[in-house]
Amino acid sequence: MNNLSVSRPWIIAVDGHSSCGKSTFAKAIARYLKYSYIDSGSMYRSVTWFAIQNGWISDHGIDKESLLKNLGKISIQFRFNPETGLNETWLNETMVERDIRDTLVSSMVSEISAIPEVRHRMVAIQREMGRKGGIVMDGRDIGTVVFPQAEIKIFMTADLLVRAQRRYDELISKKMPASFEDIRKNLEHRDYLDSTRTESPLKKAEDAIVLDNSKMTPDQQMEWFKELLEKRKKGINS
Ligand code: C5P
Repeated sequence: MNNLSVSRPWIIAVDGHSSCGKSTFAKAIARYLKYSYIDSGSMYRSVTWFAIQNGWISDHGIDKESLLKNLGKISIQFRFNPETGLNETWLNETMVERDIRDTLVSSMVSEISAIPEVRHRMVAIQREMGRKGGIVMDGRDIGTVVFPQAEIKIFMTADLLVRAQRRYDELISKKMPASFEDIRKNLEHRDYLDSTRTESPLKKAEDAIVLDNSKMTPDQQMEWFKELLEKRKKGINS
């Protein structure tokens, strides 16, 4: 019996560094609890893709004014694809799941996500998605800003080289172009930008539990989560 509360299902926030397996872990938790899973990073990636498509990102920088003027035209949805069994990201009625994993998007997304107006809009959409609870959301500010009332907050991290290898393997398996060194630099740079920005920086919520999964398999992480869950159900906050 995995229903945590009869009155209102819980919110589970999974924050942490880039490419440490947050989405794989959060998806596994959501499957286990029969909750919805939302990848908030894909929303910031979609905004970045939208800006690239409209020519607002160039060698001269970001045309912030045009992006902000058109923010209201961005609609982001997650739709289940029965063929793949996965949720896919849709931007203004186009499926962008693959496009938003592109290297150019990865190299610009932290700058786009540091813009306060972009964050305010994404946070409003995320809160609406979590209004009824029963959700696992991963990102950078889920436990600190989006859902500070979340019943369980997890802060994930892993060694930089382990993370770079995982991202590299993922891109190669999807037959996408990949260079290990470029990925390592990108992760390091994104962690730096995400942790030092003024608006909602990446940081561990005081009441979050740290999970360093550098040497853990997905099964071991699930065991770790189940133990944490049992403790929380008994009201033990550690
Ligand atoms: O999770 P993912 O690596 O796909 O996120 C891409 C980027 O989106 C992050 O590097 C970060 O800049 C931004 N992001 C954010 N807040 C979130 C989720 C992602 O700023 N809640």
